[in-house]
Amino acid sequence: MTDLTAPVSGIDPAAPQYNARLVRREDETDSLAYFWVRFDGDPTPFEPGQYMTIGIMVDGKIVQRPYSVASAPARAGTDGYEFYVRRVQGGTFTPLLFDLPVGHGMRMIGPKGKFTLLPGDDRTHVFISSGTGNAPFVAMMRQLSIDGAPRRAVMLNGVSYESELGYRALTEGWQSSGEYPVTFVPTVSRPNDPANAAWTGRTGRVESILGPVLDELALTPANSIAYICGNPDMILSAEETLLSRGYPEEQVHKELYWPKGKEPRGIVGAADVAAAVDAMEANADQ
Ligand SMILES: Cc1cc2nc3c(=O)[nH]c(=O)nc-3n(C[C@H](O)[C@H](O)[C@H](O)COP(=O)(O)OP(=O)(O)OC[C@H]3O[C@@H](n4cnc5c(N)ncnc54)[C@H](O)[C@@H]3O)c2cc1C
Repeated sequence: MTDLTAPVSGIDPAAPQYNARLVRREDETDSLAYFWVRFDGDPTPFEPGQYMTIGIMVDGKIVQRPYSVASAPARAGTDGYEFYVRRVQGGTFTPLLFDLPVGHGMRMIGPKGKFTLLPGDDRTHVFISSGTGNAPFVAMMRQLSIDGAPRRAVMLNGVSYESELGYRALTEGWQSSGEYPVTFVPTVSRPNDPANAAWTGRTGRVESILGPVLDELALTPANSIAYICGNPDMILSAEETLLSRGYPEEQVHKELYWPKGKEPRGIVGAADVAAAVDAMEANADQ
């Protein structure tokens, strides 16, 4: 368990570049957590689906990364911009973020990105994600709900372990109460792992269940639009499935969390090869 009160070595506690602070954090697992970062001054407007870049100063240099905002724009100004983040084994920024005490200064800039909803689109929205890639979809549904204009959605999310299904209670709650018209379709990629012993749902990576789900729910290019977010290999594979079913390219929107084929530097340079392979597999599952 991280000691949130301990000073973090190398991180500048009070840099002039800081314009925001970490105001809240909730852990989902040891390596997945929700973080809320609030501007010290006026909030910046953004559209659901866009991202912000957050960072800290380390030894005089900014270390920063982009993150999709999970909060509705209507709430981010007061509650803080919510981010759902995986601690990447061998990563540069996320191990620092996970050690950062609540209340610490941060630099936040943005918004950026074009992974946003089309105006007035009444087709079923097929939201496909791996790992933390569900964050922008949560922002979209939260804001549509606040606007009183929910759009029918099918939300597929693939993770390694059941415990990693972020926003599960929220999405299942929407579905069971009918508060938001969403069908939640989670899947775990390591069904034989003891950690998934209680899992009775779908298995396999999210790209492998996409075709069957489209068939079961009678989703076609005529009645739906697809948004895909997360791991680049998953995105390219899911896109292939959609294109082969006749979805035109402009009906398949994508947000890649990292360039295809790129691994964290710490992993590539790891001296312990077994540990490096394990870490690569864990990150690739997301
Ligand atoms: C537009 C955009 C939005 C993003 N939004 C989110 C988000 O909402 N939540 C989030 O957790 N990440 C998100 N990311 C990824 C994030 O920016 C960082 O790349 C990630 O947190 C790793 O940073 P790092 O410095 O620890 O790793 P680095 O040292 O920068 O290593 C990067 C490598 O880590 C791996 N990696 C990166 N992101 C992930 C991940 N999420 N899961 C598993 N492996 C990963 C990849 O191999 C990547 O090449 C987003 C990226 C982009 C481009």
